[in-house]
Amino acid sequence: MITTTMNTTNHSGDDMPKSDEEWKRILTPEQYTVLREKGTEAPGTGALLHEKRAGMYRCAACGNELFSAETKFDSGTGWPSFDKAIPGSVNLVRDESHDMERTEVVCARCGSHLGHVFDDGPKETTGKRYCMNSVCLAFEENKTLDNPNNA
Ligand SMILES: [Zn+2]
Repeated sequence: MITTTMNTTNHSGDDMPKSDEEWKRILTPEQYTVLREKGTEAPGTGALLHEKRAGMYRCAACGNELFSAETKFDSGTGWPSFDKAIPGSVNLVRDESHDMERTEVVCARCGSHLGHVFDDGPKETTGKRYCMNSVCLAFEENKTLDNPNNA
């Protein structure tokens, strides 16, 4: 039995917030700005930036499993970075805001904004760099996939 102090609830199906008001109730103001309004946290400030323990990174909004700790690497950018998302956990969306062409990463379950993915990740693995906002992630130590078949 794993106990955790994390206050993330596992929202799915009928339980999933639908309105902005509902999201505002369950998220902190900073989480709401980044997750629901596609904001970006200041680099170097994220609580999970230097997290190195084994475990699972979930969507802070709905609890969806997004990244295994084994795929996290130090990109030097100031944001938590991963070279691989759990298959099916995120959707990629073309983003042309701020006069840039980027690929937005959103949670496949709740549609919340998580960050962007770039092609300058570690060449020895996937070459991808999932640049995530720490505030969008909830870390659960020593957690492995609920469904290992997804690995
Ligand atoms: Zn989510």
